Amino acid sequence: MRRRFGGAVGVHTGGTVCRAAAGLAPEGIWRSALPAGGVEATCEAMVAAVVRVEPAPKLVVVATPGHVDPASGDVAGAANLGPEWTGTVPLRRLLESRLGCEVTVRNDATVALEAERRRGGLIAANDGALISLSTGVGVARLVGGRETPTELGHSVLQFDGPPCLGRPHRGCFESFLGGWALPLRYKERHPDFTGTAAREIPDDPAFWTECGARLGELVVTLCLLGQRLEVVSLMGQVTLARAHFLLPAVRARVQQEAALLGVVPRRIVVTPLGDDVGVLGALLVARDLLYPFQAA
Ligand SMILES: [Zn+2]
Repeated sequence: MRRRFGGAVGVHTGGTVCRAAAGLAPEGIWRSALPAGGVEATCEAMVAAVVRVEPAPKLVVVATPGHVDPASGDVAGAANLGPEWTGTVPLRRLLESRLGCEVTVRNDATVALEAERRRGGLIAANDGALISLSTGVGVARLVGGRETPTELGHSVLQFDGPPCLGRPHRGCFESFLGGWALPLRYKERHPDFTGTAAREIPDDPAFWTECGARLGELVVTLCLLGQRLEVVSLMGQVTLARAHFLLPAVRARVQQEAALLGVVPRRIVVTPLGDDVGVLGALLVARDLLYPFQAA
């Protein structure tokens, strides 16, 4: 039986898929391919997904990549959704006029953190972080039980490195580990590779172990901020598909630096919530906003 949340709906647009949920049961989560078109087509796909799971929505929380202005619901720099998203998009306004109900827009790493701390890898943790490898690289930190925004995915680790897609710099973590960047990096090593998506890269242990080491350097960068880290939870399509190569390499890289670090995470895990972590987080936030006194 599907448990409804009284009109609360969570939506997540990430990579090439739009997800919507009006209840926590996995079989009740609606998934549809995002159209390749621009802002208009993506909004239509989100509205169709919402109505599919809840014909009478009262409050919709949308999780999206990019900078989100929480007051206006505008999204900026969500280049991973398509070229029309590189500027500022008034996403809340566009969706409210189509849905006729209240819409709240949040960054996808932020809502994923909410799902992780209530139902996933960060349960019972007060200090931790999540790192998502999908089209881009998303990072969110939990400091003393509170979410702290960070743009560490665009932190530069090699100044003469490959160019970033969405930002005017080179050599950031995303330019090595983002889903858009991985095929380019693989082609540099194997010029005969013709794929354009991360999923087309073969299970090449040398390549993925090197990626794991880079990801480990992102965890080390988090450690260097000096915050206590109980758990680091890894997620996103790329992580989930290659965890068997990435996880040992991440742990080894962090261990290599352990002597230099004031803090090291007690655990580095892959989220138990899989690909649905963003949409579940959006749903939990929607329910909290609609029914603030209901237990988690
Ligand atoms: Zn960047």
